[in-house]
Amino acid sequence: MLGEKNNASAFAEQTVYINRLIEKLPEVYEGTPKACVITFGCQQNVSDSEHLKGMLACMGYEITEDEKDADFIIFNTCAVRGHAEDRVYGNIGKVKQLKKDNPRLIAAVCGCMAQQQIVADKIKKSYPYIDMVFGTQVFHRLPEFIYKRITGSGRIFELSLENEKIVEDVPVKRDGTFKGWLPIMYGCNNFCTYCIVPYVRGRERSREPEKILAEAREMVNAGYKEITLLGQNVNSYGKGCEHGITFAKLLRMINDIEGDFRIKFMTSHPKDCTIELLDTIKECEKISHHLHLPFQSGSSRILKRMNRYYDREAYLRLIKEAKERIPDVSLTSDIIVGFPGETYEDFKETLSLVQEVEFSSLFTFIFSPRNGTPAETMPDPITREEKGKWFDELLRLQEKIAEKNIQKYVGKTYRVLCDEIVSDGVLSGHTNGTATIIFEGDEKLLGEFVNVKVVSATNSLNGVIV
Ligand code: SF4
Repeated sequence: MLGEKNNASAFAEQTVYINRLIEKLPEVYEGTPKACVITFGCQQNVSDSEHLKGMLACMGYEITEDEKDADFIIFNTCAVRGHAEDRVYGNIGKVKQLKKDNPRLIAAVCGCMAQQQIVADKIKKSYPYIDMVFGTQVFHRLPEFIYKRITGSGRIFELSLENEKIVEDVPVKRDGTFKGWLPIMYGCNNFCTYCIVPYVRGRERSREPEKILAEAREMVNAGYKEITLLGQNVNSYGKGCEHGITFAKLLRMINDIEGDFRIKFMTSHPKDCTIELLDTIKECEKISHHLHLPFQSGSSRILKRMNRYYDREAYLRLIKEAKERIPDVSLTSDIIVGFPGETYEDFKETLSLVQEVEFSSLFTFIFSPRNGTPAETMPDPITREEKGKWFDELLRLQEKIAEKNIQKYVGKTYRVLCDEIVSDGVLSGHTNGTATIIFEGDEKLLGEFVNVKVVSATNSLNGVIV
């Protein structure tokens, strides 16, 4: 979300297009047009899609989940792994038939995958029925793109990535009513050698603290009970900004907002996880004690090749600090198995780190080469099949750890946010960490905090409201 000019006017320009579309669309579609937003990838993409829906609703579109029913369809894409991209091509191929059924359908592709010139060129050449392709930093210009397309301009390809101030005041239509995403920054400066994010999301830019606080207050006043702060690298929030507000400081400011709600955040980079942040989590009653700290590999040699800015010892020191300062901290992480050049000896260091830390849960991936990243061209002698065996070994280890640790919950009482109906009269909810507890309760409790005592732990935690 960009604009050389100050950010307020940048969206004001779009409201001009929104007002024109409010008049124009009913003419073109004889009634209320429908829009379908299809999202791939991470929470940041989900949040971006909530802004796409917000703008579409302002233009007069009714949001539909059914692509066959849509007059406008947009694919918000992900580029983090190869199979994510394959899925997208499979989906946009369906537009050809959808357009045969509805010739006035307008189709768009945006997000991280679309940000890559090679992808935009492929869509330009091989998917002539896609009307527009635009990147991660211009999606606030959706009204302009739609207006230009329906008033006769040709296909639109807009991939500018100029890393200027974030455009504020873009309408948002959140999917949830009591749990919500709140983006605080965009982009990443770390350039891990396997990662495409810095190339498709650009440099780190932090939103103005007062804008974030205003939005957080609005969410609390609207009844949100859990607010998750989002960024590719949340704990480098505010770096290089005149206001000097660090991530830890921002957390304290949000914690000071009146109301009964919980604050979560993702994703953190270990190199920016400070003692100040750990103490802030400990001292602020609203901040969740869940810390997602991706370590990726247990081998310092591989961490160097990944350009992760920390080694095994530094990571383990940080974990030790976190456990000492926040005794009930719930740790989760990401691991890449089979990074180019990784040997079984390196991999054993990943296993031993997992054994030593005992994470609540892990997100594990087999290395997927990304277009244009340094790791894409690194020598990679280990077969996919062999990497698959390592991957399974890691999963088995984590399952054993989880089986052992689940027993620790039995007999204790936790304050959980009821966030799912499991079946008739049965709900589930999240603790202040990452644990999910299943218990009997009236669905009227959905979105409320209740105290639940864990009575047994089998494949799941089972509890009773107390
Ligand atoms: S920290 Fe590394 S892995 Fe995370 S988004 Fe940035 S470059 Fe990618």
